[in-house]
Amino acid sequence: MSGADPVDQQRLAGAVLVVNAGSSSLKYQLVDPDTAEVFADGLAERIGESAPVITHTAFGVERVVTEPVADHLAAIAVVVRLMRESGLDLRAAGLSAVGHRVVHGGRSFHAPTVITEKVRSEIERIAPLAPLHNPPNLIGIDAVTELLPEVPQVAVFDTAFFHDLPDAAATYALDAQVAAEHGVRRYGFHGTSHQYVSRRAAEFLGRPDGQLRQIVLHLGNGASASAIDGGRAVDTSMGMTPLEGLVMGTRTGDIDPGIAFQLHRVGGMSVDQLDRLYNKGSGLYGLCGDNDFRTVLQRRSDGDAAADLAYRVYVHRLRHYIGAYLVELGGVDAITFTAGVGENAAPVRADALAGMEAFGIAIDPDRNAVRSKESRRISTDDSAVAVLVVPTNEELEIARQAAGVVRG
Ligand code: ADP
Repeated sequence: MSGADPVDQQRLAGAVLVVNAGSSSLKYQLVDPDTAEVFADGLAERIGESAPVITHTAFGVERVVTEPVADHLAAIAVVVRLMRESGLDLRAAGLSAVGHRVVHGGRSFHAPTVITEKVRSEIERIAPLAPLHNPPNLIGIDAVTELLPEVPQVAVFDTAFFHDLPDAAATYALDAQVAAEHGVRRYGFHGTSHQYVSRRAAEFLGRPDGQLRQIVLHLGNGASASAIDGGRAVDTSMGMTPLEGLVMGTRTGDIDPGIAFQLHRVGGMSVDQLDRLYNKGSGLYGLCGDNDFRTVLQRRSDGDAAADLAYRVYVHRLRHYIGAYLVELGGVDAITFTAGVGENAAPVRADALAGMEAFGIAIDPDRNAVRSKESRRISTDDSAVAVLVVPTNEELEIARQAAGVVRG
């Protein structure tokens, strides 16, 4: 275990602690929003379960701690302690903010927002829109309020980047009154990533994002596509919930809404069973029993038919959205892949854009095969559309937005 010297402690002034609280997990990162230097990060898993594990890394040294962690408050208390043991005194550090990833901002939040009692209540009021996500986010906020009361807290919403989708893209063709009464519309998610990646893509190309038409493909365990015109999101594949759109690790993505009626009426499944089936038992996992893309690729190359079909369904849906957004945008300047699958799975990138030379899209196989943690171009020099891989960094984006709000 290595500690920070006094200079390190001084460098903490102005840093942001980014917190991403899930139902039984808590991801965190202590980062300088100006230099992007990461002082420490970690993940607490299985909070409230029998064998919680906290993996904490500070100054490049990893510690794995297993001790009872009853709830998120206890988890954050352990994080504060581990930070102190690594020489990072969060209370004395002069942090500029704690930035929370909050999944759903509903219609209320369009921008990063300093958390006051009123803001907290509003996040709670809209929690029914994201029952799996907003409640743990709130628990994270409450835990930080208790343990670091002097540090301003900022909520950065996953939906914010999509708050002004054009109404034709945001509206479902459902009874308008029913939709209005229940807040049914397309909100979009992964907004922090789509925003960060589209700006980085513009920087990489050396052009203002205001001049670019972009498609961003965020392909992680969750997956979403967005169409961005001049820096403004004009469409996205996730909808009222993160279930819609692309095939994901364990989520269905688009399916006929009528399937639920059939499974309920004929299959006898309850709403909760359907919710679990759609969110946790479908996607790649539902199709072939594996949701880790590396395993799917390996099984496919070993000749496994189920993994092969899962892969082809995944790619088919991806191409469907790419085609839709090409048309919606009237052509694009850049298509960018990001997140675990997008950054690493060269075959997916190649297959997603195969045979699109007529649309000015041509991937260079050698460039596509390069493994790197850097932003890079994988299209040929002649390709009219720049195809890029840009590693996402949601924590840094949250830290920057949080610091931006408190600094005014
Ligand atoms: P999330 O943040 O949504 O949990 P990530 O962005 O970390 O997800 O992406 C996780 C996915 O990325 C997993 O399906 C994993 O298998 C896939 N992945 C990671 N590395 C590779 C790789 N080298 N090749 C193919 N897929 C990869």
